[in-house]
Amino acid sequence: MAAIRIDGKAFAATLRERVGELASAFEQAAGRKAGLAVVLVGEDPASQVYVRSKGKATVAAHMASFEHRLPAGTSEADLLTLVEQLNADPAVDGILVQLPLPDHLDEQRVVDRIVPEKDVDGLTPTSTGRLALGLDGLVPCTPLGSLMLLKDQLGDLTGMNAVVIGRSILVGKPMAQLLLDANATVTIAHSRTKDLPEVVKRADIVVAAVGRAEMVKADWLKDGATVIDVGINRLPPEPGAEKGRLVGDVAYDEACEKAGAITPVPGGVGPMTIAVLLRNTLVAAYRNANLEVPSEL
Ligand code: NDP
Repeated sequence: MAAIRIDGKAFAATLRERVGELASAFEQAAGRKAGLAVVLVGEDPASQVYVRSKGKATVAAHMASFEHRLPAGTSEADLLTLVEQLNADPAVDGILVQLPLPDHLDEQRVVDRIVPEKDVDGLTPTSTGRLALGLDGLVPCTPLGSLMLLKDQLGDLTGMNAVVIGRSILVGKPMAQLLLDANATVTIAHSRTKDLPEVVKRADIVVAAVGRAEMVKADWLKDGATVIDVGINRLPPEPGAEKGRLVGDVAYDEACEKAGAITPVPGGVGPMTIAVLLRNTLVAAYRNANLEVPSEL
């Protein structure tokens, strides 16, 4: 039987709408808009597209967007000064430094300078530590969006076997932590894992966050497994085409014959990332204004 297609695009649109409504309520209660500052250093074309779409989505969700575009040669001292200014700015609830930064800048040192209250990407040591301790904090957007899709699809995850492939700070590790908090039994696999297909076969839930086109095959999957494909990979272009197709880390067509439910690429996890960024910004705004965070967030 063909798998259910988990429609992340539709889920993200609903979340963005809800965030927009609650952002208007926040403005009424706080007397100001919630605000997201995005910092872009250099002219990386993909980063420019991301920053533009984040700005548009922020405004569409009734929040204030502050874009700071700095030249590629910006010194670390100047970038840290800007982060400090944004930390101190009461109109700014969330700060996102678009990664990757040019090579001469130390990403961890820059991210670490963001105050945890405004760390909407959830990447500072404080946010990471709070997640590990099970305390309230800001959680990286992609794994949190993936968890939302899983809960929407499966309800209670208690006792389920989950395998996360990938152990990055941005996706794999926080994903595993969130699944553990949801009472799943979690295995984290990576490039040194032995016999990965056998490990994946035990999983009721598979989260693939590797960055290798169509690596996970149908015969790795348990019948009826729920598959979240975080990977975004561009295939080489077909003859005559300008760009190659985008695919995930899972061989989607064949996996559809084995999985119970699966996210497509594009249209699965990808749209959730911006929606959760807006959600995180609004959560930060409520906390920064000492207002109770609405339960719908
Ligand atoms: P990283 O490159 O930081 O991490 C990749 C992980 O995959 C590593 O832990 C690595 O293991 C593991 N890995 C690599 N090769 C293998 C293999 N053959 N078998 C098993 N594990 C392997 O990537 P990210 O976590 O940042 O991103 C992962 C993917 O998700 C990428 O395609 C990225 O584009 C996508 N992504 C999508 C987002 C979205 O919005 N949908 C947002 C963020 C990322 P090891 O640690 O041992 O090296």
